[in-house]
Amino acid sequence: MRIFDPHIHMTSRTTDDYEAMYEAGVRAVVEPAFWLGQPRTSPASFFDYFDALLGWEPFRAAQYGIAHRCTLALNPKEANDPRCTPVLDELPRYLVKDGVVAVGEIGYDSMTPAEDEALAAQLQLAADYGLPALVHTPHRDKLAGLRRTLDVVRESALPVERVLIDHLNEMTVEEAKAAGSWLGFSVYPDTKMNEGRMVEVLRVYGPEKVLINSAADWGRSDPLKTRLVADAMLAGGFTEDDVDLVLWRNPVAFYGLSGRLQLDVPTAQEATHEGNSVLRGGE
Ligand SMILES: [Zn+2]
Repeated sequence: MRIFDPHIHMTSRTTDDYEAMYEAGVRAVVEPAFWLGQPRTSPASFFDYFDALLGWEPFRAAQYGIAHRCTLALNPKEANDPRCTPVLDELPRYLVKDGVVAVGEIGYDSMTPAEDEALAAQLQLAADYGLPALVHTPHRDKLAGLRRTLDVVRESALPVERVLIDHLNEMTVEEAKAAGSWLGFSVYPDTKMNEGRMVEVLRVYGPEKVLINSAADWGRSDPLKTRLVADAMLAGGFTEDDVDLVLWRNPVAFYGLSGRLQLDVPTAQEATHEGNSVLRGGE
């Protein structure tokens, strides 16, 4: 079984996670730029983070046989901090880099005017740079958040067929599917979707354009949720081809819209990143 986790924050995860993910079949991940918990105070802090998502983290993932690509953006939460919004002016020079396979995660957190502005500006950037967009939907007021998100997407230059709407559930999947977007589901240990509910959603709405992610980060989360959903699908009567479609071919097709999704893993384990290895000094 081959698995592509299309939304996971490996920066917050351990080497044990990488080993367990490889063991479970994960061979590719996409790490969206997001909020680190600790508020950033300047654009420079974003740039170092973007560079880490393009350099150090793919290097670290490769040690475990996993291809790592990223999506970059000003995240919805920090779009509300005027100290951070100048990041938008510098994003274009990052969006041309090979490792960037979408603009994201963008979308709404509290649905403020500042978030409106950042979302519209970044959908335009995605259109300008030929990239798809990963759009997060808010954890509160989910249906209202989805509707407002779809309105902004429809007003943008980016076709909805190049948008992945993430964190969907039973309440929001129908409208997102009717709109024609890609459908993302984050499966968490105790909130949002779980494996059983996910299988039911797949039964009702089908596997087409559905992407499953663990969205694992610094909070309580499980980087093996993708595999657990795959197992639950098989136990629920789905075929291995259905599992491969949802857990591999759909994420490849969506990020492939960038025209630059490349999933080779560099094999030279002794290689270094900017002169540094993962071996901490002289070992
Ligand atoms: Zn996320």
